[in-house]
Amino acid sequence: MSPACPSRRTFVRAVGAALGACAVPIRIGAKTPSAPAVRSAAPARSGATTLPKPVRIDSNENPYGPSPKALEAMTRSQRVSARYPDALEDEVSAALARLHGVAAENVVLGCGSGELLRMADMAFLGAGRNVVVAEPTFEAVLAFARVTRADPIKIPLTGDYRHDLPKMAAACSEATGLIYLCNPNNPTGTIVTRDEMSAWFERLPKGAVILVDEAYHHFVEDQRYASAFEWMGKVPNLLVVRTFSKIHGLAGMRLGYGVGAREVVEALRAHRLWSNANAAVLEAALATLGDAGHASKCRREMNGTRRWLCAEMEKDRRATIPSEANFVMIDLGADVAPVIAALKERGVLVGRRFAALPNHLRVSIGTPEEMRRFVAALRAVAPSGAIQAA
Ligand code: PMP
Repeated sequence: MSPACPSRRTFVRAVGAALGACAVPIRIGAKTPSAPAVRSAAPARSGATTLPKPVRIDSNENPYGPSPKALEAMTRSQRVSARYPDALEDEVSAALARLHGVAAENVVLGCGSGELLRMADMAFLGAGRNVVVAEPTFEAVLAFARVTRADPIKIPLTGDYRHDLPKMAAACSEATGLIYLCNPNNPTGTIVTRDEMSAWFERLPKGAVILVDEAYHHFVEDQRYASAFEWMGKVPNLLVVRTFSKIHGLAGMRLGYGVGAREVVEALRAHRLWSNANAAVLEAALATLGDAGHASKCRREMNGTRRWLCAEMEKDRRATIPSEANFVMIDLGADVAPVIAALKERGVLVGRRFAALPNHLRVSIGTPEEMRRFVAALRAVAPSGAIQAA
């Protein structure tokens, strides 16, 4: 992976280091301030140990991996690996434009959707500007905003763990450069409905860019949900961001994209690394977009497994936040930090602790076998009965 495109694992550390570099005069030998780690320690590389493979249900990935067609396309991409992937980028942008009924000039690719969040912060924030987000939500947009010296405005979720849209709208001002909506929300898995979104768009200031992050769009089954693409072209400053990391099972390959009005996309492109998408993932993207069967199979399997998990938790009298994504928050009734550590000891890596919801454990949906191992481990480290329902 290019040093210009850090992995998610090192992402917060890198941001912390960059912040340190900006915030204080550089002194030889000065300690770099450390930022909190956002993920559990990396499991051993396969083959490096005889210990059983850890259950990795910490990063909302797809346990079934890419479509067989995408795997084949990545192998084929060896033939073009000596060439810069400009033509392939154009092909993927055109395919995405067709998918969403826009022109290719409205599409911008990213090294994962994380790069889109960074580009948006760089383009629309800066000192004296602010970004309005829910608390908790996916933190990347806030971490990059710190680098630009923008102010975060965090609006707590409602009592039922959903975006408080009226309060988010009321918090906007002339100084707001970006409004971030994660739908479904990470880490809660809750959604904003079509009606709520429609009313919200009416209330938002016209100047700020509205970034709707739909990383988990493909998992949603609730009929009241609508993708923000419904408003594309009608809400002028709308930017919708998606990723190939989740339903398409390509998290390790790094590809995401944003779609918005020409001016919004042009502003983002100014901050984009040239050739930020590699030939292999571009070939894989073309193949996976043509394999709807794989996406629907993954969605069916993972949503089914999530329902099974929630039922098991109910047997244990543990409450879960109703989720429309490939992860779920389980209320442990007490701080999750020791449970996360105890599960790790047993080879089960779960999501990080979210400061705003310290009693909720975020568990990504793995294979049925992985989830059985998780349930057994959780029962061993935090026996049911000790837990209050929310
Ligand atoms: N948005 C959300 C809501 C996420 O949860 C994630 C990763 N978990 C991302 C964006 C970034 O993912 P990627 O860079 O792999 O596309």
